[in-house]
Formats: sequence, structure tokens, C-alpha cells
Amino acid sequence: MRRPLVAGNWKMNGSMQEVSVLLNALAALELPGDVDVAVFPGMLYLAQAGSTLKGIAVGAQDCAVSAGFGAMTGETSATQLKDAGCSMVLVGHSERRELQCESDDTVAGKFVAAQSAGLVPVLCVGETLQQREQGRAIETVTEQVEAVIRVAGIDAFADAVLAYEPVWAIGTGLTATPEQAQQVHEALRGVIACHSAGIAQGLRILYGGSVKADNATELFAQEDIDGGLVGGASLDAEEFGAICRAA
Ligand code: PEP
Repeated sequence: MRRPLVAGNWKMNGSMQEVSVLLNALAALELPGDVDVAVFPGMLYLAQAGSTLKGIAVGAQDCAVSAGFGAMTGETSATQLKDAGCSMVLVGHSERRELQCESDDTVAGKFVAAQSAGLVPVLCVGETLQQREQGRAIETVTEQVEAVIRVAGIDAFADAVLAYEPVWAIGTGLTATPEQAQQVHEALRGVIACHSAGIAQGLRILYGGSVKADNATELFAQEDIDGGLVGGASLDAEEFGAICRAA
């Protein structure tokens, strides 16, 4: 049995004041004991999140392609994130692939850097609407995952999380149906299984894309969906708590 994980991606949201309010509300939630919960605040708020939250993991939304320290102005390394109390980091979120032009090779480099610093990478993959309409959803996510396997090796996935986030469902209010999501999750597990059946069996694959309290139960009931990566709805502690309880 895979232990579910519900992760909140706060993106570039929150002021000092708003983050304090949200963290305190999260700290007061009664969360289920059989679900892992994590939040991914903006960089500035990671240490504050780590000191306020107990029993909720803290992760960053990105890391540099190099671990350690050095002359990389504006970057934050996985080593520094670990030092700030993070245990996880998102890599390859579609907003970064699109807005920062991150290639599969860059994403793979960040995945390796995260693990070398002792962080669990959450590798995000997903197809655009055009790719889905062309019938290329599974081909697209397969290539995104294989690109990381080529660089990091399959064993690296024993200590990683995969998140399937169809680009057309992120922040749009459109959600993949549970059947659409399950089809891709099953295919992704199959891609991993071609390299290692054991790693595929244990790998948590999260669904992300307009997950809300009212659609989470149906999505999380699918056999290969092991929880969610939640954007907008994670900014409301009550709703996020309800999504955690649905997992
Ligand atoms: C995300 O950004 O990872 C995400 C899934 O966003 P939303 O839930 O708002 O669609």
C-alpha cells in the first residue's frame, strides 16, 4: 500500500501577513494520521513554515541545477533548501517549463541536484491541451519521465514522487475526469515498471490540476492516484484540510 501524499503549491502567493495567517490556520488543522501532507511556500517563507508547522513537511517550488554553493546569482540550491528545513522540492512544474523555458535536461539536472542534497524531488509532468487533442498525452509525459530516468537512473525513483499535472487543468478550473487521470497515472506507472516493477509499485503518483474539496474524493479513489498536488485550493486552510481528509 502506498501512503497518500497531499501537497500544497502556494506558487508566488502571500505577503508576510497572509502567510502567517495561513500557517497558523494549517498548524491548527486536525489532519488524518494516515496521509502525508506537505506545503510548498515561496522561498522567503520556507524557514517560517518550518518553524510553525509540525507534522507537515515543507518543500520549495524550485531549486538550482547545481547543489552546494557558488556563483549563481539569484539561485537557491537544494543544499540551501535543506539547510532551511525543506525535505522536498518541486522540479519541472509546467509554469517553470513554460515561463522559464526549462527543458527536460534542466529538469533532470534539478532532480539530481535535489537528491544529492537529500531532498525528495517531486517531478511534475503533463501535456498541453494541444498535445492532448493530438492524442499525444501519454507520449508526452512518457518522454518527460524517460528524460529524467536517462540522467538520474531508475533507482533514483525509489526516493522521489511523480506528479501528473495536465497543463490545461492547472489554475483553469478544468479538472481531468477521474478516468482520464487514472489512464495517464496507470501509463506512468507502466513506464517506471518497464525499468523496475518494484520501484513502480512503491512510487507515489500525485494528480494535480484544479483539485478541490469537491472533486478530490473521486480522483483519489482511482487505483494509481496516490494523492494530489494542489495549487489554488491549498491557499485556503479549511479546503486544504478537507482535501487531505479525502486522500
Ligand atoms: C499546481 O500549480 O500545481 C496546480 C495544480 O494548481 P491548481 O490546483 O490551482 O490547478
